[in-house]
Amino acid sequence: MAYTVTLIPGDGIGPEVASAAVRVLTATGLSFEWETEHAGAGTLGQSGTALPPSVLESVRRTKVALKGPTATPIGTGHRSVNVELRKQLDLYANLRPVATLPGVKSRYEGVDLIVVRENTEDLYSGLEHVVVPGVVESIKIITEKASTRIARYAFEHARLKGRKKISAVHKANIMKLSDGLFLDCCRAVAKGYPEITYEEVIVDNCCMQLVLDPTRFDILLLENLYGDIVSDLCAGFIGGLGMAPGANIGEREAMFEAVHGSAPDIAGKNMANPIALILTGAMMLDHLNEQKAATRVREAVNAVLREGKKLTRDLGGHAGTTEIAEAIAAHVENG
Ligand code: ATP
Repeated sequence: MAYTVTLIPGDGIGPEVASAAVRVLTATGLSFEWETEHAGAGTLGQSGTALPPSVLESVRRTKVALKGPTATPIGTGHRSVNVELRKQLDLYANLRPVATLPGVKSRYEGVDLIVVRENTEDLYSGLEHVVVPGVVESIKIITEKASTRIARYAFEHARLKGRKKISAVHKANIMKLSDGLFLDCCRAVAKGYPEITYEEVIVDNCCMQLVLDPTRFDILLLENLYGDIVSDLCAGFIGGLGMAPGANIGEREAMFEAVHGSAPDIAGKNMANPIALILTGAMMLDHLNEQKAATRVREAVNAVLREGKKLTRDLGGHAGTTEIAEAIAAHVENG
């Protein structure tokens, strides 16, 4: 059976890392039909929208998407394609595993944590207005429904993966109502999972604790904005954004996308590290219940990293995106 998957190459380095991921996923021998759909800054000029309706139609049909990064112009009226996709498809859970990879130089060893980020509300609600000239208001929305849903997702994921501890990250000492509600919901859900240790950490302290010793954490449960910031911080523990995979999960659809952005500084130069999106592809295989293939992809990435001969510039090497993809694909084929 062929899996039909929507492929959104995206902007900047997106097309390069997307074709690298497709190369490696195809090497597993599984059969994929890719429905390629374009979204992002690149489609704005042609179709007048960064998110043509056909993209949503395709994902609603296939239920699974592999996506490269899409760029959002800063400070203009355009809404982020990612925010829009997550909202339209109600992809409420953003899952970002952060695990030390072999052979990758980093300040830390033995990091193995999972960031679970709420994906639909908070300061990403897009509710901003000018109160009077010189004064703007951005509204943070936190609801019982979304907070309970993400907390339940985190605890269920912990149970599924045999994880032992969840740390809810907040700033309820200052935002007593909004972050207070988030914590109330997390506490209520935690009661149903007595085998999992539950703790609460204030976000600034959490950042310091992470930098001191990231191995002290297991699963981090965060609202949308804290989740965005903390997951970039966590990517730094494992060699940077080129190594950090991610997934956006909803009740019906799932969209697999690495943590990094479109990296315009290195776009089109065959310099991008494709490993983040290749590991994201392995998460997609898990979602499709193709665990054996997912393991082969992860082992192939580990093998190439361990050999240390083919590395992109962000990891101190000189290899190109396509070379890395070929090396990983060869390990998948022979593994
Ligand atoms: P966004 O706002 O879209 O998340 P960003 O501003 O966080 O984007 P990125 O596009 O993720 O920025 O890039 C941040 C830095 O990390 C840049 O220097 C970029 O070159 C580097 N980077 C990001 N992704 C990769 C990758 N896959 N391989 C190598 N370097 C990368």
